[in-house]
Amino acid sequence: MTLFWHRRDLRFPDNAGLYHALKRNEEVVPVFIFDRNILDKLPSRSDARVTFIQRSVARLAEWYRDYGSTLLTFYGDPVEIWKQLRDEYRPNAVYTNRDYEPYALERDQAVADLLAERKIPFRTYKDHVIFESEEVEKQAGGSYTVFTPYMRSWLRRLDSRLIRRGEADVSFYLAPYPTERYAGSLHQSPTQHPVPTLEEMGFSPTETYLPPPDPPRELLEAYGRNRDFPAVEGTTRWGIHLRHGTVSVRQKAREARATNDTLLKELIWRDFYSNVLQAHPRVAYGSFRPEYDAIPWRNDEEEFAAWCAGRTGVPIVDAGMRQLNETGFMHNRVRMIVASYLTKHLLIDWRWGEAYFADKLLDYELASNNGGWQWAAGSGVDAQPYFRIFNYESQQRKFDPEYRYVKRWVSEFGTPDYPDEPLVEHKFGRERALRVYKQALQAVRNH
Ligand SMILES: Cc1cc2nc3c(=O)[nH]c(=O)nc-3n(C[C@H](O)[C@H](O)[C@H](O)COP(=O)(O)OP(=O)(O)OC[C@H]3O[C@@H](n4cnc5c(N)ncnc54)[C@H](O)[C@@H]3O)c2cc1C
Repeated sequence: MTLFWHRRDLRFPDNAGLYHALKRNEEVVPVFIFDRNILDKLPSRSDARVTFIQRSVARLAEWYRDYGSTLLTFYGDPVEIWKQLRDEYRPNAVYTNRDYEPYALERDQAVADLLAERKIPFRTYKDHVIFESEEVEKQAGGSYTVFTPYMRSWLRRLDSRLIRRGEADVSFYLAPYPTERYAGSLHQSPTQHPVPTLEEMGFSPTETYLPPPDPPRELLEAYGRNRDFPAVEGTTRWGIHLRHGTVSVRQKAREARATNDTLLKELIWRDFYSNVLQAHPRVAYGSFRPEYDAIPWRNDEEEFAAWCAGRTGVPIVDAGMRQLNETGFMHNRVRMIVASYLTKHLLIDWRWGEAYFADKLLDYELASNNGGWQWAAGSGVDAQPYFRIFNYESQQRKFDPEYRYVKRWVSEFGTPDYPDEPLVEHKFGRERALRVYKQALQAVRNH
């Protein structure tokens, strides 16, 4: 018997690790664990992401039920649960898809070790990204830290291995894994293992809007034109689905390739930031450019609280933060603006902003969030230089000229209830940031 462990791949179709497990032609028993080490640390007991995961696991269980099998689901500490599964099922092997975050790597090592005590192999597969860091390397070796050459190399690699599908050649790397073809290997079970409810795990369901995985094709086709305007619903909202694997990244990359190059480029950014985390795990804790850790952040708690609540007096920043607080989503253009305002105008450590986003974003993904924050702070790979500081006024004029986005989220905008003055005004904030960044970086470089 083979056990297959689902984590960030909450789907049956086109699942790389599951395909390999089923193809072994042994009975496969699928497993999912609601991980208390993660759930217990969430600040709210009413978290839309937990609702999303619980529903997605229930959907996954239905897939297995339709094949006459059952998904074993647990709530607890994965290492403890794997000890029990190992002793109860005595599997010949355990299969799973790779997860690259520091906690996951540690957890997987602990599980691999306890399986190794009984000589049970723990086999892991690439499923979460199109390419892992060793697959797209510089000619001289080593991972890329600049996006454009990375993207060129990524695209070359994509077309380096073509396979025939029907009338056309498609990239092997985007071809779906035909999991259904091997469904006959699933262990058959007349009784169903119940999926824990939110209430059983101490959570309550939320009413937060959870976007569907398949926006209309017209949205994909118009993506390049609309994507930068936050008042338009012009982006895919694939984030939460890619994060939890309720869709396959290969499928989304095929759709992007068929409709819009700009959209494919965004998925390449996703791979890029995942590759940075894989190749440089230390970015999860500190600046990729260590000299940026010497910046004397002001870290004013009251200003941070005003930023979080959307009360900075900068309309586009406040609109973004309120969109985030109310819906768990913020438009990408506005994420860049609020991140720049926090790290430059307010001189608050990018890790504070990163942590706030991690609590709030439905599509929170460590690698992309960390990459986005370090990009804005100037401390990361391929970051904008620190002296290029977003001007929130010109961003407003360019991307929300009629204040449609602002008015949607800041109802008191334009009334006496909205502040006349921003917390930190652009010219003053820009000059102060330039001075502080320059001094700190020069001091480290001269040292
Ligand atoms: C400070 C900051 C923090 C961010 N935090 C996250 C995060 O936690 N999780 C996350 O998925 N993205 C993050 N992003 C990237 C981007 O803002 C979101 O992916 C995007 O807004 C999600 O909306 P969408 O799914 O409609 O994206 P679309 O514009 O429709 O793009 C499609 C998909 O491409 C990927 N993508 C798009 N832009 C980027 C990007 N710049 N970097 C990496 N992947 C990208 C995502 O998977 C996204 O779902 C962050 C960006 C910034 C500036």
